[in-house]
Amino acid sequence: MSKEEASAKGYQKFDIILVTGDAYIDHPSFGVAVIGRSLEHAGFHVGIIAQPEWKNAEAFRKLGKPRLFFGVTAGNMDSMVSHYTPSQKKRHNDSYTPGGASGLRPDMATIVYANRCKEAFPDVPIVLGGIEASLRRFSHYDYWKDKVKPSILLDSKADILVYGNGEKQAIEIARRLSLGENIKNIQDIPGTVVKVKNVPAQAIMLPSHLHVSEDKAKYSEMFRILTFSNDNMVAQPVEHWYILQNQRCVYTQQDLDLVYSLPYQRIPHFSYIQPIPALATVRHSVQTHRGCFGGCSFCAIYFHEGKRVISRSEETILQEIQSITQCKGFGGTIDNVGGPTANMYGMDCKIGWCSSRPSCLFPQICKNLIITHKAWLELLQKIRSMGSVKNVFVESGIRHDLFLADKPQYLEEFCKHYISGQLKTAPEHCSNRVLHYMRKPPYSLHKEFQKRYAEIAKKIGKKQYLVPYFMSSHPGCDTQDMISLAQEIKSLGHFVEQVQDFTPTPMTLASCMYYTGHDPLTKEEVPVARTLQQKKCQRAFLQSQDPKNYDILCKALNDASRQDLIGKGPKCLIPEKKPGTGSPHAFSKKRKR
Ligand code: SF4
Repeated sequence: MSKEEASAKGYQKFDIILVTGDAYIDHPSFGVAVIGRSLEHAGFHVGIIAQPEWKNAEAFRKLGKPRLFFGVTAGNMDSMVSHYTPSQKKRHNDSYTPGGASGLRPDMATIVYANRCKEAFPDVPIVLGGIEASLRRFSHYDYWKDKVKPSILLDSKADILVYGNGEKQAIEIARRLSLGENIKNIQDIPGTVVKVKNVPAQAIMLPSHLHVSEDKAKYSEMFRILTFSNDNMVAQPVEHWYILQNQRCVYTQQDLDLVYSLPYQRIPHFSYIQPIPALATVRHSVQTHRGCFGGCSFCAIYFHEGKRVISRSEETILQEIQSITQCKGFGGTIDNVGGPTANMYGMDCKIGWCSSRPSCLFPQICKNLIITHKAWLELLQKIRSMGSVKNVFVESGIRHDLFLADKPQYLEEFCKHYISGQLKTAPEHCSNRVLHYMRKPPYSLHKEFQKRYAEIAKKIGKKQYLVPYFMSSHPGCDTQDMISLAQEIKSLGHFVEQVQDFTPTPMTLASCMYYTGHDPLTKEEVPVARTLQQKKCQRAFLQSQDPKNYDILCKALNDASRQDLIGKGPKCLIPEKKPGTGSPHAFSKKRKR
């Protein structure tokens, strides 16, 4: 909200000003809108500064001095992931910016914005939130600088960091500040991280920042402790301080029901002329739950939101769908009824979620997990039967192993009604050795799913395709594994349009393996594609049909003594001679013919 909009509402001053690296969209898929609406609902006046010019503090003064605090976030995504490809090349577009333009937010936006806020109003408390801050709450490996950095609380000079879901913590901080408490004394709110001189006796102690930045074995040890203390009080010594993580803030169904029922307008701020690409995919979508119990090594959800799945009530989801149907431009299609993993909606743990396993699905599905797609499919069916809804699709990823572990009728019903022509699955690799490092199920399960899916498509008489997503360069994956994967992709008759190359983002198990060369949970040594050239080579195997990859693959196959895969044979990955020019599409079409 701008100063003029605030005056129109009768506010003289903002209680809280949120600064974000994304363009502002008043929609529940955008973190700053959710936090802003939640604070507003709790009675606070909230101003938003979106994508400010950061070269000086001027833009941070434009809404005046906030009464309680500045809330700072890089936006929905980590700014470094937004700005750079896995091979560290600059990206030329940004889907959270009008017109998809790049360059409207700085690298490490959280730190830059927090410092500018401090410059603008030195005595105003600063609260960090969002995924960039959350995953940098302790010492972390920074892939872009290739070094271990301390908690972001130090560089940002912020007072409090909110990790995971942030609505309740933001409200509690605002409430206590408005009661006159000094920010320095607010050190005990669940779901926050603070810099303190003394730590409570019950805090689980990590190795110090100095130790983990100098010794990879200590870094691994830190990560192992964090993995099993994800929801607990944890502390780490750094310089003359401790970074203290309070226990995780527990969210309930009622909390989510409230958050998603706030009066979002589901549109960008009126000042934007060009469309914001990120909105197109979520405008007519609903989020049904938070959390994911998959625990994949390369994913940060476990450390960010936690593995506990919190599902919204059917009633509020249906109300939200009803409000979407009233939106201007709604054509009858709900694009996505999803969450971090769509088919985890309504699933639960019989014993109330343990902290002894980071994944409920790996290495085997836990016997305490209540697997049922019943509630989810009933919900989808109710959405489908709403008067103004013609189609309902699920675009978020699904776990195929969960479908296989449940009654076959659920997959059939899902295929019949909720797939828009193709279903994306994420087997990620075909080598069971690599899948083990990824903490994913064996590839045979995906094969079984593929077979069942094809049988169902035939039975229901629909042309439906399976689009499996694969990843290169994950720790544990070497050239031989990529050769197997390229052969598998070829046998599937599949051209990989979008390559997924592993990026070592902060606070994932896989990034720890990448940095240390060891699995922190088993202490096993792990081979790593570390250099940009090694990563480029692995990535090329995902698109072995693409002529632009010919030279790198030719060299890799020769180096691996796999000349048998060069030539015309059915198993060959590349031809003997370098193909002439031609787009990947033309090449792939020619190959299919
Ligand atoms: S007991 Fe099993 S189902 Fe429950 S949280 Fe732990 S691993 Fe998951």
